[in-house]
This record gives sequence, structure tokens and C-alpha cells, in this order.
Amino acid sequence: MTQTAPQFSAEVFPAHAAADLARLGRTIDVLAALQPDFVSVTYGAGGATRDASRAALRGVQAAGVPAVPHLSALGASREAVRALLADYRGAGVSRLVVLRGDMPSGLQGLGDFAYATDLVHFIRQETGDHFHLDVAAYPECHPQARSCDTDLAHFKAKFDAGADSAITQYFFNADAYADFVERCAKAGVHAPIVPGIMPIGRFSRLVQFSEARGIEIPRWIRSRMEAFGDDAASIQAFGLEVIVRLCERLLAMGAPGLHFFSLNDGERVAKIWHALGLPQPPRAPDVLRLQGDALQT
Ligand SMILES: Cc1cc2nc3c(=O)[nH]c(=O)nc-3n(C[C@H](O)[C@H](O)[C@H](O)COP(=O)(O)OP(=O)(O)OC[C@H]3O[C@@H](n4cnc5c(N)ncnc54)[C@H](O)[C@@H]3O)c2cc1C
Repeated sequence: MTQTAPQFSAEVFPAHAAADLARLGRTIDVLAALQPDFVSVTYGAGGATRDASRAALRGVQAAGVPAVPHLSALGASREAVRALLADYRGAGVSRLVVLRGDMPSGLQGLGDFAYATDLVHFIRQETGDHFHLDVAAYPECHPQARSCDTDLAHFKAKFDAGADSAITQYFFNADAYADFVERCAKAGVHAPIVPGIMPIGRFSRLVQFSEARGIEIPRWIRSRMEAFGDDAASIQAFGLEVIVRLCERLLAMGAPGLHFFSLNDGERVAKIWHALGLPQPPRAPDVLRLQGDALQT
């Protein structure tokens, strides 16, 4: 591992409608107050969210937080990526999360990059060591992979192409993460692999989301959640307890940080952050005022 201090970060997605913009703005404010190492902004494959992602990135920067754009390979041309890289460099961005992406239905054509590895390789060719590159990892195996072994080989290829570190898909089983990190080390991947953490909000939504991504929700969590019925307060309290315990275990195991998928609900991340006693240095209040204007596309 090349990283020493644990890294704590969060992720937001771009907003289009006015109500979503207000929610994104609030989320950035709440996350910024936590002073994370960075806030990353998702990017839809095929470039569908390009302008909204760029606006969200400006909002994060205006809040005084290092902003990290995601970049999705599918549907992108070399020219389009070259232009994005120049734009990001010009905006002072020094880190990217590089993904293959999932093509939205109806969109045709893979573009110039079939896999995340191809995009990592291209970014290194074009910009040398300018960007720190994160890639995605799947402790429970990527759902489209032929086997966990081939998935691991493909994961390693992203580092051979020039990736620096990884952020995982979310999971609820700390042993799956420990096993994955061990298998990576045996395969020669010693870079930091930061667990992605999904706060538990609406349980039915989480079930849907997890099924689509091949993520296992342990039976004991399902049973407890189902037993709460419509009791939203108990669901929230239990969800918080489960995630805080998972994070504590991961940090005790030596995880090099945590990356929170906020789903644009900053409060939920803040509750976990505070329960874990994560660092929260004082900050200047005036940066928050700048951020509202920056979010406009
Ligand atoms: C932290 C995180 C952030 C994310 N952010 C976004 C986002 O902003 N936008 C978005 O659209 N999606 C995002 N995703 C979702 C991600 O794009 C999907 O999970 C996607 O299905 C895979 O992306 P990847 O970068 O892992 O792909 P890859 O690493 O390219 O792998 C995809 C699949 O292809 C296989 N594979 C890789 N290389 C080869 C090869 N040479 N030959 C054959 N098979 C191969 C792998 O084993 C795997 O099954 C994110 C995921 C994570 C974990």
C-alpha cells in the first residue's frame, strides 16, 4: 500500500430538475462540512450527464472540497475524452474515477473504449502522471464476469494500464472485502482498495438496487428489516447500526479509508461519519455561499 493516512470521501450524482438541484446543493453543503478528502461526481455512460456532471463538479469545487469527476468509457470517443481531460486539467482537477459504465438502454455504439482498462491506458498516454486514477473493484465479483478469477485478472489489468487505487462496489459482508484484498495481493495488486459504503435508506429501494448489481444482502439483515414493516424510524436506526458496524470492522481490518455513496442524501452520510468519529476539522463558513451559483449549468 502506498497510502498512509486513511482516506474518507463521498460521491454525489448530477441533478437536472430544479428540485434535484436544490437537493444536490444541500448534499454538497453537508458533505463539505465534513471536510472529506474529496467528493466525486458520477458520469453517465454515453455522455448523457456531461453538462450536469460538470455543473455538479463546479458546485463541489465552490464548496472548497477537492472534486473528482467520474469518467465512463462506454459510448465515448477519443476526441471527446481528450476534450474532457483538457477541461478537467484547466479546472484544477487532479484525480479521476475511471469506469467502463453501463450503457443506458437505447444508446447505440460502444465508442472507442470497450473496458475501463482501455480508458485508463488512453488517459495515461494523453496526460502522463497528471491524474491520480481510481478504478472500480467488486469484492463480490462483477455481475457480468465469467468467473471471479477472470474478474480479478481484468481488475489487475487496470493497474497494469496505470490505475493508482480502487473504490469498491458496496457490500455488506466484510469478509468478502478481506478475501478480495487478499486475492488481489496474491495476484500482485497492492494498491489501496477503498471500500464503497452504501448508507441504508429505503430498504425496498436497496433490495432492488442490490439485485440489479449482484450484491448480496445477508439474510439476517433482510429478516430484521422486514420485521420492522412500515416503522421507518426503526429501519433507519437499524440501517445506521449495520453500516456503522461494517465500517468499524473494515477500518479495524486496515481498510485504507471509506467512500460513501451519498445518493444525494448528505445527512445520511453525516450520521455515519459522526457515529464513526471521523475527522471533522473546523472550516471557513464563506465557501458555502459560493456554491449555489456554481451549480447552475
Ligand atoms: C465506485 C464506483 C463508481 C461508479 N461510478 C459510475 C459512474 O459514474 N457512471 C457509470 O456509468 N457507472 C458507474 N459505476 C458502475 C460501473 O460503471 C459498472 O459497475 C460497470 O458495469 C463496470 O464498470 P467497471 O469500470 O468496473 O468495468 P470494467 O473494469 O471494464 O469491467 C466490466 C466487466 O468486463 C469484464 N472485463 C474487463 N476487461 C475485460 C476484457 N479485456 N475482456 C473481457 N472482459 C473484460 C470485467 O471482468 C467485468 O465483468 C460505478 C461503480 C463503482 C464501483
